[in-house]
Amino acid sequence: MLNRSLLNINFLDYNISKFSFMDVLDILIVACCIYKILIWIKETRAWALFKGVVIIIIISSLAFFLGLTTIWWIVKTTVNVGILALIIIFQPELRKALEQLGTGNFASFLNPQAETELEIYSKTIDEILKALNNLSNTGTGALIVIQRDVALGDIEQTGIKIDAIVSASLLINIFVDKTPLHDGAVIIKNNRISSATCILPLTKSEIGKELGTRHRAAVGITETSDAYVLVVSEETKSVSIAVDGKIYLNLTQEQIKQFIGGNRKNLKRKFGLRRGYNEGV
Ligand code: ATP
Ligand code: MG
Repeated sequence: MLNRSLLNINFLDYNISKFSFMDVLDILIVACCIYKILIWIKETRAWALFKGVVIIIIISSLAFFLGLTTIWWIVKTTVNVGILALIIIFQPELRKALEQLGTGNFASFLNPQAETELEIYSKTIDEILKALNNLSNTGTGALIVIQRDVALGDIEQTGIKIDAIVSASLLINIFVDKTPLHDGAVIIKNNRISSATCILPLTKSEIGKELGTRHRAAVGITETSDAYVLVVSEETKSVSIAVDGKIYLNLTQEQIKQFIGGNRKNLKRKFGLRRGYNEGV
């Protein structure tokens, strides 16, 4: 029966010239959807169930071809109920997928596991802010360099490699006085703490007599790079940021957030921050 139906499909009858760009697109979209569904199945609890369904399909196909009519009849009559059962069992997952499609969050529908670059950076910022808050409250001196476009490989090499996810707890721990990693600067690169105890070049420009080497080092590195450098003063407990060879002293959490969140124009308008310390505020 199968052989006959296969033979009936005469592939030569198909006019290859009718195969248009839209057909290619059609096949690509379907292939993409099947691939994504398989990935989704693999990553959810549907995987075990999927294997069960495949086994049932194999058994029912065998039953059909070998003429095992009772098994074939059972499979045939339960398949409709089975589809309904699957929809009910996976209602939460299906609902989530449809909601993601509906809210236009297509990227996360295609790859639910992937966080956007922005989400990761905003988590990094939150952890840094938490750490700064704690370090400032406890009067623990700290120096944190956030690398941006300009690579700081030479500076990293002066320190100890860490390569860890940015967390407030780890940052706080690094700067605890008299511990092996507390001296020097921490470098944050690609949302990871890449190294600690790094030595930064000191600025030669006039930044104020009350500011010592920690603040000078912060400004120094921003003279030759686009990094954001956060400083917690051990003496005054204040938090400052150095950027583009200038240092902005004694900032609030929100000001720092706006700064490292990349919204400096807004910041200047909102808080009237126009000049860095060494521009003579
Ligand atoms: P604070 O307000 O915290 O006292 P400060 O600007 O007065 O800071 P110092 O008191 O001189 O600076 O701080 C010394 C610390 O700064 C050192 O223990 C070291 O951790 C850090 N530091 C000094 N120079 C550098 C440098 N070139 N690179 C990185 N870190 C440095
Ligand atoms: Mg000092």
